[in-house]
Amino acid sequence: MPQKTKETPMMEQYLEYKKQFPDAFLFYRVGDFYEMFYDDAVKGSQILELTLTSRNKKADDSIPMCGVPHKAVESYIDILVEKGYKVAVCDQLENPADAEGKMVKRGVTRVVTPGTIMDNSNQATENNYITAITTNKGHFGLAYADLSTGEVKVTSIENQLDLINEMQNLDTKETVVLDTFPKKYLDPIRKLGIMISRLGDLEDNYSFDFSQVEDDKEVDTLKLLISYLIKTQMRSLDHLKAAQTYETSAYLLMDHNAQSNLELFKNIRTSKKSGTLLWLLDETKTAMGGRLLKQWLARPLISSSKLRNRQHIVQVFMDNYFQRSSFQDYLTKVYDLERLAGRVAYGTVNGRDLIQLKTSLQQVPQIKAILLDIGDDQLSSYVEKIDEVADIRDLIEDSIEEEAPISVTGGGVIKEGYNDQLDQYIDASKNGKRWMAELKVKEQEATGISNLKIGYNKVFGYYIEVSRGNVDKVPEGRYQRKQTLTNAERYITPELKDKESIILEAQEKSQALEYHLFDEIRKKVKDQIRRLQALANILSQLDVLQSFAVVSETYHYVAPDFVEGHQLKIVNGRHPVVEKVLGNNTYIPNDVTFDPDTDILLITGPNMSGKSTYMRQMALTVIMAQIGCFVPAEAATLPIFDHIFTRIGAADDLISGDSTFMVEMREANDALKNATDNSLMIFDEIGRGTATYDGMALAQAIIEYIDKNVNAMTLFSTHYHELTVLESQLSGVKNVHVDASEENGTLVFLHKVLPGPADKSYGIHVAKLAGLPDQVLSRADSILTRLEAEGGTEITASEDMKVAEPVAEVETKTPAKSKDVDDGQLSLFPEDDPEMLKAKEVAE
Ligand code: ADP
Repeated sequence: MPQKTKETPMMEQYLEYKKQFPDAFLFYRVGDFYEMFYDDAVKGSQILELTLTSRNKKADDSIPMCGVPHKAVESYIDILVEKGYKVAVCDQLENPADAEGKMVKRGVTRVVTPGTIMDNSNQATENNYITAITTNKGHFGLAYADLSTGEVKVTSIENQLDLINEMQNLDTKETVVLDTFPKKYLDPIRKLGIMISRLGDLEDNYSFDFSQVEDDKEVDTLKLLISYLIKTQMRSLDHLKAAQTYETSAYLLMDHNAQSNLELFKNIRTSKKSGTLLWLLDETKTAMGGRLLKQWLARPLISSSKLRNRQHIVQVFMDNYFQRSSFQDYLTKVYDLERLAGRVAYGTVNGRDLIQLKTSLQQVPQIKAILLDIGDDQLSSYVEKIDEVADIRDLIEDSIEEEAPISVTGGGVIKEGYNDQLDQYIDASKNGKRWMAELKVKEQEATGISNLKIGYNKVFGYYIEVSRGNVDKVPEGRYQRKQTLTNAERYITPELKDKESIILEAQEKSQALEYHLFDEIRKKVKDQIRRLQALANILSQLDVLQSFAVVSETYHYVAPDFVEGHQLKIVNGRHPVVEKVLGNNTYIPNDVTFDPDTDILLITGPNMSGKSTYMRQMALTVIMAQIGCFVPAEAATLPIFDHIFTRIGAADDLISGDSTFMVEMREANDALKNATDNSLMIFDEIGRGTATYDGMALAQAIIEYIDKNVNAMTLFSTHYHELTVLESQLSGVKNVHVDASEENGTLVFLHKVLPGPADKSYGIHVAKLAGLPDQVLSRADSILTRLEAEGGTEITASEDMKVAEPVAEVETKTPAKSKDVDDGQLSLFPEDDPEMLKAKEVAE
């Protein structure tokens, strides 16, 4: 079987590479295809819906195989990586024609992994963070990078829970560990769906700036991350910025549950951005601004002076409408400078990208002028520092064709006038083409064949074409026949061939020269990457601040005042997202007041009255204040909070698989143990997940504990009406309630928060609204009256419950939805059609 012996060396080469990347799909270039073999082929063909074939079909040892066309390879890689796999791309490193019968030289040129995708245009406003973790006696190091923007950060973390929290907040898709990393720490990470990539050894050489990181352990963590990037990317990482250390405690802390319960980034029910705080605040004009806004929201500040600076600029943008809107117009024309800079360093940039870069840079002088024109000292001091990077703008302006093609090798990228040699080549080929046009006319006249044509194809080059009917007019001897078609004959002449070689040579040379020139330009741009990144940074900050101004103006927010000490007053505050969704000024504003003696606001009121909304409103107001935005209220005086703890709803506990109640208790414990005088705690219906007495007992004990031991500001909603008596016994507890009234036997929600306890439990009214049988309602009424009078819990079954006639009109559409509200999770969103909302209210 000669065929088989011929194939073996290739498969040997394949297996050699596969051995180096066992955990990746190996895409092995053969001709115009990337092939997969063995298990990769079996699995790959399923996932990518490709036809599975085999090498050596007839032999016993046939090898499963499938392939994708090289032109479409990126989309196949994207699919695999999006599904959480890695792909190693093995390319031909020489022209197969030059291999002279030997094996074509190949090599893996890149490994694409979930944490290192560069070009995901669907996610322009998302960062894609790859993390690396190290451990030392139960402490952890965490480094992360966004390869597309060049951001690199590192921190130290005390315990495993905080580590996982930070990883969840970063929304990392992939984390790198050393082979020796203890397995016990990995399981919870894996459960979160994060890919774990192992590395045996660190690299020896790094061209990377560790200078701002002092802690040796943090440097080690960074080295792990950078080693992995070097190993997988196999190309320049020059755009990575100097690593920066950060401490989570330098920001307002929110654990992952708090972030998700408060719906900062993701709507709990739809998992989309709609209906979140980010959605409300995002009026940014650039993708970089969008990403920065997300980062600010994830890490609100705790420095009042920095916040005042941000507020000041927001105010300036609000006060100067015309300058702001023309600033916005120019910003809209600024492309993703950060990612463009990344692509320049990476070598994946093309002519069109450089034109985008130029267009972006062209906006900068106007942006500067407009902002300086406002004449605010503080704003001007930032703006004056903006480096326009005019040299790069001019370089691209002079050199790159406005309508550059996607390919950088096929010519047409470099502008005329940029390089003399190139102009000469282009002239030669243009002249040649003109000569061809003249030749056509000349030959038409000489032969009298009026439809004689000059054409070109890849196989024969230039030719003269004569239609069948005119063949007898072709001059004997001078024309040499080259190709016969059904309706025509094609000829060449020596003169034609001479000119052809001049044209083709000029074309070939000009393409090679263009590529060379392009590469030179790219390198010049790359040398200025730090300046481009600095520009990107300041533009994105200004973008976020103008976004705050737009939102604050549209919804009439006010600048909060920051005060020292234990006191807070929000006058006519609103829940910003509910308000926006409800529209038409229908949201009922409410005050929140903590005087120096108050630790706990104990909130009572019927279900669906607005307790949960009230508490979230306060948390969102605090977060908005601490990112520098204005807040939804008429006036607000706030302390700077260091930590927001939430105990809201049923968060899925992926890490331990604990029951909802266990999670509830763990979150409560976390809050009670870690809250400081400057924290905010939100307890929504704690104790609900267990039996009444049990739950009420726990709720009471927790309130007492907070009153005596924790000075954090606490919002505590409860349906245990009995707990309201605590106000008279504990100095830090103050009752408030959400008002509801009865009109003609129906319950009307007023959503107004008033001092004092709610006067009664409205459960039976709600049951009535839900259409429960009369017998159930009147029986419940009489049990309630007895319980209230006697205080006992003795159970005696009633004999009178038999229904006289079939109950035909019981509401059937309601109960399924009630769970949403049980969770304490808000349904804010328009897809909730009014009917459904009503149904939900009724169900309660
Ligand atoms: P609870 O926690 O008391 O069960 P929620 O806070 O979930 O009640 O509020 C129920 C619904 O009432 C919300 O979905 C919202 O649409 C509406 N709501 C709450 N507070 C207000 C308010 N202040 N103004 C207008 N509507 C409100």
